Amino acid sequence: MNYYESLNRLRPLGIYVHIPFCRSKCAYCDFNSIVTDSPDIVTRYIDAVIAHMESYRTAVRDEYAPDTVFIGGGTPTAILPEELFRLIRAMKKIFPLADNTEFTVEANPATVSYSTLTRLRRLGVTRLSMGLQSAHDNELKALSRIHTRKDFARSFRMARDAGFDNINVDLMFGIPEQTTDTLLHSLHYLTRVGPDHISLYDLKIEPGTRFYANYAEIAPTLPGEDEEADMYLAAISYLRDMGYLQYEISNFARPGRQCRHNLKYWNCDEYLGFGVSAHSYFHGSRFSFTRDIAKYVEGVTVKDSRVRITDELEEVGERERIGEYVMLRLRLTAGIDENEFSRRFGYSFDELYGEKCRRFVRGGFMTRRRGITALTPAGMFVSNYILSDLLEFEDLGRFNFGG
Ligand code: SF4
Repeated sequence: MNYYESLNRLRPLGIYVHIPFCRSKCAYCDFNSIVTDSPDIVTRYIDAVIAHMESYRTAVRDEYAPDTVFIGGGTPTAILPEELFRLIRAMKKIFPLADNTEFTVEANPATVSYSTLTRLRRLGVTRLSMGLQSAHDNELKALSRIHTRKDFARSFRMARDAGFDNINVDLMFGIPEQTTDTLLHSLHYLTRVGPDHISLYDLKIEPGTRFYANYAEIAPTLPGEDEEADMYLAAISYLRDMGYLQYEISNFARPGRQCRHNLKYWNCDEYLGFGVSAHSYFHGSRFSFTRDIAKYVEGVTVKDSRVRITDELEEVGERERIGEYVMLRLRLTAGIDENEFSRRFGYSFDELYGEKCRRFVRGGFMTRRRGITALTPAGMFVSNYILSDLLEFEDLGRFNFGG
């Protein structure tokens, strides 16, 4: 086999790197991130991630040509830019990235400069993901975000000037004090700014966050469930009118601008994660690494260390693969192609899930047409309940599905 034949044999792979550092901790955030002003901790962490990637060099180079990279967190742009550049340069040396690699870095509007953005672009970063969350400064303050709308506008302009023609912006709904009108106003503002991709997340109050601890105080300011449903449905329809098509529960894109890296998760494709709490699906196994930064650094960099960095490791059996496929594919508006399902697993989708699906179809939460089963927008809003019911984890008695 010659060199070019061997290149053709290589399979695609996603690479994720978690940077667990932020300038301050947002009140709603349950991501694995800490605030530190110690450059030393960051340097040791980046050293560990690079060493960890090095340990996968052969396993990746023999079989894969990674074609998507996502550096997220935390806030990758909160660390010293030189550390971020060092990480990217090392990754490109260790792994042979495919020519058309989609390479995303998450950036906080308050922590980027023009020079960092141009350097990132020159290093091969093709896509930025920026967290705006709301175009209203009072809502940003309620979320304890460290940036204002003005900061975002400046960062977005700088990113375009630095040559980024593929930018995602995150927004949230269900924020304290937010109404459907203020959400639509944020969307109106954002679509005028004109990113290529918009992610719209539902604020959830998770244990371990400041919002969770102060729940009694913020509860009266939170929109109710009906209003949140109105917000979500109004947003989908507004974004569709503005040319942003929904392709996943929380994701909207201009044609051709879907996030290829995140699609790997929902299509059950392979990816390797590095850094604390990073997840992987690689060689038929799912695994994740410890959330503890000190443990991770020691486990990866200290020779003969007894510290185990793998938190969970599971071989994915057939039943789990089917359940996972259903759960992930139904997040996508493209849904499940029932012929593809039988080809992949050798079972009829209808025999396994048909009866339950019919109830959701009658309730207006799902459609089944021409062999494609998909959630409707109303179904996407309650997708957690629908998926739990389909996969038999939870009771769905509180919803009226008709019949
Ligand atoms: S910037 Fe993002 S990761 Fe950091 S604390 Fe805020 S929400 Fe969490």
